[in-house]
Amino acid sequence: MNDCIFCKIASGDIPANKLYEDDEVLAFWDLNPQAPKHFLVIPKKHLAGPGDAGEVDDILIGKLLRTGAHLAAENGIEQFRFVVNNGEEAGQTVFHFHLHVLGGRSMSWPPG
Ligand code: AMP
Ligand code: ZN
Repeated sequence: MNDCIFCKIASGDIPANKLYEDDEVLAFWDLNPQAPKHFLVIPKKHLAGPGDAGEVDDILIGKLLRTGAHLAAENGIEQFRFVVNNGEEAGQTVFHFHLHVLGGRSMSWPPG
């Protein structure tokens, strides 16, 4: 996807403030944080969102969650919220699957 900003971050064409990277996933701090600690974990493979994932992606999606939790712990975020928006109405603005990891403040429920 050559017009996808997160694909460009994954390929290194656009810089990001990275926390972690391996062959399959990449984590970087959100440019417009919604909590004192807010980072994103993405698959390097382009998927528009969870609605675009197939059975072949099950292990990859599990890895996103595990990586998010491990990186939260490594960065002193003991309690956190995972958010994945799927679709414009849900608040998705970048159409490349990303797990938000938010922490460092109390969270309310339900989300807006
Ligand atoms: P969503 O609204 O769920 O699609 O989330 C997209 C997130 O990506 C937002 O929180 C943005 O602040 C964040 N974002 C967009 N562009 C960048 C970028 N170049 N580097 C880091 N975060 C970004
Ligand atoms: Zn992409």
